[in-house]
Amino acid sequence: MLSHEKNRIIFDCHSDSYAWMSQRAWVEIDLEALSHNVRQLTKLLSPRTQLMAVVKADAYGHGAIVVAQTALKSGASWLGVATVPEGIQLREAGIEAPILILGATHTPEQIQAIAQWQLQPTLISPKQALVFSNTLEEINYDSPLPVHIKLDTGMSRLGTNWQEADEFVKLVQRLPYLTIKSIYSHLATADSPDPTVMKQQQQRFETAIAQIRALGIEPPCLHLANSAATLTEESLHYDMVRAGLVIYGLYPAVHLNSSIDLKPVMQVKARVTQVKIIAPGTGVSYSHQFVAQQELRLAVVGIGYADGIPRNLSNKMQVLIRGQRVPQIGNITMDQLMLDISALPEIQEGEVVTLLGKEGEEQISAEDWANQLNTISWEILCGFKHRLPRVTRVSG
Ligand SMILES: *Cc1c(COP(=O)(O)O)cnc(C)c1O
Repeated sequence: MLSHEKNRIIFDCHSDSYAWMSQRAWVEIDLEALSHNVRQLTKLLSPRTQLMAVVKADAYGHGAIVVAQTALKSGASWLGVATVPEGIQLREAGIEAPILILGATHTPEQIQAIAQWQLQPTLISPKQALVFSNTLEEINYDSPLPVHIKLDTGMSRLGTNWQEADEFVKLVQRLPYLTIKSIYSHLATADSPDPTVMKQQQQRFETAIAQIRALGIEPPCLHLANSAATLTEESLHYDMVRAGLVIYGLYPAVHLNSSIDLKPVMQVKARVTQVKIIAPGTGVSYSHQFVAQQELRLAVVGIGYADGIPRNLSNKMQVLIRGQRVPQIGNITMDQLMLDISALPEIQEGEVVTLLGKEGEEQISAEDWANQLNTISWEILCGFKHRLPRVTRVSG
């Protein structure tokens, strides 16, 4: 059934093979590429710098558990998630590495879950730090909870203003149920070729750290860099880098494309479900946005916007079949889309179509879609729905 495909398919533990074979569409995850990317990244880092694999949002749509396990085997030592349930999912899978929750947590229920599952929260304000301390006292938590101080140095998102960092750290230091594990901030413009704002943020971070040190407090771990900053320069690495996009094999910006060799981890595939010939003047799909100018051979493919193919790509995108680019025609529908395969009359029903990924010399990347849609590749990766089973694949 897969004789025309060179790549061996291995089913991951979450998708049973029968379900997969009958699938009209799926996401393929190349764990070898993921390992490669993580290893490339660790080569950039000095021995003192640890790598946090950011696996929030189900590892940017790749599948958090399998990505976390592979990243840890390949050189990452920390994991970053956005929410408490994302952290619990990893613990339930038996993952023991330290897990930082990058998002805000406030409620006693969240705090209890953090303590119970040994997750590590981000502290963003004195008020929230006191809620943590009080809640831990109420539940008689027996050892101090490792926490991470978040400073706002210019992103204007989570964190205490960098100018109040010393007061904040002094307060948390005093609270008996908390122990500071790291101090960090997040960069707003690390993917820009103009480093001015990033340098200003770094300067503010350094100033805040100097003020904290002036209190006689030595921060055990400092971190600032996301993917783009990690690729930009070593002075931004500190004790740890928090890498998301790059471990999935995409470059955060065009000017960073040659910094290291990355391999895209995700491919999106679907099958041709019907082939037909339509006469000149025939409209295709809802609203007949496409009308055949001459007789053409049309293929229906079993994937649509409910799977995460952006409808705004209608009549703009191309896909790969048999290593060739083929235009998509008509509006993309919820579960299906159409192709003009007139140039490839031998295409059969059941054949595999690559929507994102590589066939031979041809490649369509999340970056290509992002450019067409005026968005960023992060959003493209996160956009694929759970209706698409994730199957792991070994490249080669
Ligand atoms: C998502 C996130 C990252 C990772 O960003 P990438 O650009 O994907 O590397 C790092 N740090 C924080 C705080 C984040 O929220």
